[in-house]
Amino acid sequence: MDLVAPVVVEPLRRRRCSECHRGPLDRMIVEFNAPVCLDCADLGHLVFLRRGDTALTRRAREASTLWAVVVRHNRRRTRYERQGLLVEEAALAEAERACLEDAEARAARRARDAVRRAAVDAGITAALLAEILRLFPSCPADRATEIAVHASAKGSGRVGRTAAGRSLDRGAVTAAVRASVRHVDTPYDSLLMQGVPRHQARTRVAPAIEAVLRTWRQDGGTTSGRERG
Ligand SMILES: [Zn+2]
Repeated sequence: MDLVAPVVVEPLRRRRCSECHRGPLDRMIVEFNAPVCLDCADLGHLVFLRRGDTALTRRAREASTLWAVVVRHNRRRTRYERQGLLVEEAALAEAERACLEDAEARAARRARDAVRRAAVDAGITAALLAEILRLFPSCPADRATEIAVHASAKGSGRVGRTAAGRSLDRGAVTAAVRASVRHVDTPYDSLLMQGVPRHQARTRVAPAIEAVLRTWRQDGGTTSGRERG
């Protein structure tokens, strides 16, 4: 269906209605070269919707039985430019409701996605935590949690987010624990701050790291010797 919407003009000069003689007019139609106000043109019940929101405009137009295009002449460009539409108030209200529901639906979907991502991350963290405590039963719980959270941090590319981390590769889990011990339980970071080259610093703290890992591997925090005895 090809609709020919009435064209409403925002006059640049002061114009009066040729029928009721009211003026100056903000908006008018032109009939037989004469300005006619919107009330006389039976468009007075319509409300102005400025252009800009495409979805709102489309919905308001589709819901309006009668609507009009509002234009203004641009002298510099010597052409009429669309300012917006005149639509039925009820149609505009309906369009605004629909757009709001869209926005709410989008927000709800974003929230659901976020919850799902959080659940995945929490799942990875929990699995990592369980694996850390299985491999290192004497690792303090807060340290194990810290390592698991750190390793599974979203978008970090750390062990928990790598393919190896997801499959809980023993080597990857141990690497995450070793890295934590290196930073927390050895002077590694201080050595780096003192200008010790990374490889030298690693070599120097390696025995201390292995000592901590040995302790953490023991069950129940007791030495294997005591367990045997
Ligand atoms: Zn009039």
